Order: sequence, then structure tokens, then C-alpha cells
Amino acid sequence: MGLEDRESMRILRDALDPALGSEDVIRDFHTRWFGLDLSARDLFPPDMTKQREVFGHALLWLCDELIAQRAEEPVSFLAQLGRDHRKYGVTQEHYASLQKALLDTLRSHLALRWDRRLGEAVNDVVELVVGVMSGAADAETAPPFYDGTVLEHLRPARDVSVIRLRLDHALPYLPGQYVPVQVPQWPRRWRYLSPAIPSDPNGYIEFHVRSVPGGMVSTAIVGEARPGDRWRLSNPHGAMHVDRDDGDVLMVAGSTGLAPLRTLIMDLARFGENPRVHLFFGARYPCELYDLRTLWEIASTNPWLSVTPVSELNTDPPWAVDYPSVAPPRGLHVRQTGRLPEVVTRYGSWSDRQILICGKPAMVQATKAALVAKGAPAERIRHDPLAS
Ligand SMILES: Cc1cc2nc3c(=O)[nH]c(=O)nc-3n(C[C@H](O)[C@H](O)[C@H](O)COP(=O)(O)OP(=O)(O)OC[C@H]3O[C@@H](n4cnc5c(N)ncnc54)[C@H](O)[C@@H]3O)c2cc1C
Repeated sequence: MGLEDRESMRILRDALDPALGSEDVIRDFHTRWFGLDLSARDLFPPDMTKQREVFGHALLWLCDELIAQRAEEPVSFLAQLGRDHRKYGVTQEHYASLQKALLDTLRSHLALRWDRRLGEAVNDVVELVVGVMSGAADAETAPPFYDGTVLEHLRPARDVSVIRLRLDHALPYLPGQYVPVQVPQWPRRWRYLSPAIPSDPNGYIEFHVRSVPGGMVSTAIVGEARPGDRWRLSNPHGAMHVDRDDGDVLMVAGSTGLAPLRTLIMDLARFGENPRVHLFFGARYPCELYDLRTLWEIASTNPWLSVTPVSELNTDPPWAVDYPSVAPPRGLHVRQTGRLPEVVTRYGSWSDRQILICGKPAMVQATKAALVAKGAPAERIRHDPLAS
């Protein structure tokens, strides 16, 4: 029976449900794994809270999918996970110790209900996880990571950095995708960043980073990144794109959420004819609309692009006196004041548009909700995952 034994699969699923107290199972699993294989501990950051949460959720989702007899998505998810984990230096030996630790943990936590059938189901799930992940990692021929050197660190606003690097080898990615990044200030703390230019055959790449209050990696990048730093990037993810045959486009960017949309716009600029693209670029203060000059330059030679700057507040803060003015020459729409969801929907429902939203999770959710409330079809709205 194994994976087909729904009753046993439900017992396993419940043991992995955080709502039913699965934290102990996941914590115990990591303790056993690191006890069996000390080198596995070095793959992870010191604080394991996030890793535990992500691993627990992934296992729970996997069980739910298998119970619903959907195997295709879980298998491609696990394969992707296996390919991604190469960047941490995960080896086949790590998979062997992980398999033993996970099996031992589940057998011990399910001891009271353990029988031959449950044993088979648990064994099959663990084998599926380990087999697909390690098989996909083994079969992958692309490099696990791409190292590069910081060439330039610009600070167009207090909380925003533009970082330009040259990679030792070009990283292929599609416009609108994002990549995992590790910086020397925080080894083993990978974060997703979205390249702000299309993939370059000579390895040049640019990121726009906003420091979030209390954020570990973003504040270190904005405060400390310097030319010569060696960054490590890994393979791209994401499917945010513009369909050139699917009508006009609305883009909404909050702060450095501009990066992937700017890449898409730069990519579109290769073509003579495009759907009309209207971009709302928002920030808290006018001085934080850090990239208006580039947008102005693209819009001035590409009549399909129009840009509306939006700031929540109408005046700049006192610290802005130390920063260069970001206002571009006349040519863009007049700057609007207000929050993005309200300003964007003031112009209508945009229901005939393909809609791309990018920025901090709360802004993305609020803008999407406001657009849907006005009549935009939810299935026409695209955004990246809201958490990493
Ligand atoms: C698909 C994707 C693409 C991304 N692209 C970019 C990009 O191009 N440029 C960029 O600057 N950031 C981008 N991010 C966000 C980035 O990956 C980090 O999450 C962010 O920089 C915070 O990391 P941290 O280590 O500083 O904060 P952490 O130490 O991880 O978190 C500290 C606190 O900040 C909160 N927090 C985390 N992320 C955000 C956020 N985005 N906004 C507000 N609060 C947050 C957390 O909830 C937590 O309370 C992207 C995220 C995703 C999921």
C-alpha cells in the first residue's frame, strides 16, 4: 500500500501538522540528523527557527498532496529543492544521514500507532523525498552557484542601495526572475533578490536592496557592502513575466520592488512594438523614488511606457538634504501623493490589463485586494511569492 494507504498517510500528516504540535518532531529530526552527521550542521545558519518552519510546512504540504493523489507537483517541487540545495554543499552522504534521521524520528514519534502499514507509508514518503531530491541534484549539470565581485555600491536614498557586480561566469535568468544571494557579511543566510537588469553574457548584474527595519541581511548590505566583496548567487526562480500577446500591462512597484519590473521593461525595450505599459512606482518620501531618471530615459524613447511616480508623503524628511535629488527632467506623469493601492485604483479597475505587482508583502496584498475589489480579475494579477 505505502503512499496509497490514505489512512496511514493521514496519521503521518497529522504528526507533521504545526497546528497539532509538530514542532517537536521537526526539532527532534534536526537534533538526530546533526548527531548522526556533524557536517550537516554546517549547512545551516546558527538559528534554525526559519529552517524548521519551512521544512515542516514542506513535509505537511507534501503529505496533503499525496493524500489527494497529486504526485506531479510534489515531485517537481522536490526535484527543484534538490537542485537548489546544491548551493549549500549538500552531498549524497548528507542525504543518506538525513534519510536515517527522518525515519528514526518519525518511527519514534509515531511509536504508539506504528504497525507494518504505517511503517510502509512512512518509509515510502521518506524515500520519495530523499530519492527525488538527491536524484535531481545528481542529474543537474548547471553550476550550483555563481560567485561575483561587487564593483559599485550606490546609496541613492538612506535605506536603498544599488549594488553592481560582475560574476565570474554569466548567470542565465529570465527577466522578472529572482535569485538566492549570499553576502560575506552573513554567511549561510541566503536571501532572494531580483536582478534589476536582464541577464548579461559578460556577467554584469545589478541589485536594488532596501534595508528593512531589524532585517539581518538587508541592513548589512545597505550599511556595509563595498567594492571587492565576493557575493555568491544561485540559480533563478520565479515566473513573473509579460505576455506580449495578452494586451496592455499595469505594473505596480513599491520601492526596490521596482527591480524585476525594470528588468522586464528593459527587456521589452528590445522590441519595436509592445503592449502599452503603465508603471506606478511608489515610495514613502519623494526622495526615495530613487530610479526615476532611468525610467524617464526609457520612457523618453519608448512611447509604449508611461510612468507615474507616487509618494505616500508630499515632502522629504530632514535626512534627505545629504542625498542627491532624484527628480528627473519633466516628461513623466505628475507625481501623485498617497498609498499605492489607493492611487492605482483611483484611475479605474485596470480590468483589461495583465497586472504585475512587486514590493513588500503588505503592499502587494493590499494593492491586489484593492484592484480585485474594483473589478480586476484575480487570475490576471501576478506577483512573486510573498515570503522566502
Ligand atoms: C521573491 C523575492 C524577491 C525579493 N527581491 C528583493 C529585492 O530585489 N530587493 C530587496 O531589497 N528585497 C527583496 N526581497 C526581500 C529579501 O529577500 C529579504 O526578505 C529582505 O531583504 C529582508 O531580509 P533581512 O535578512 O534583512 O530580514 P530578516 O532578518 O529575514 O527579517 C527581519 C524582519 O523583517 C521582516 N521582513 C522580511 N522581509 C521583508 C520585506 N521584504 N519587507 C518588509 N519587512 C520584511 C521580517 O518579517 C522580519 O520581521 C525579495 C523577497 C522575495 C521573497
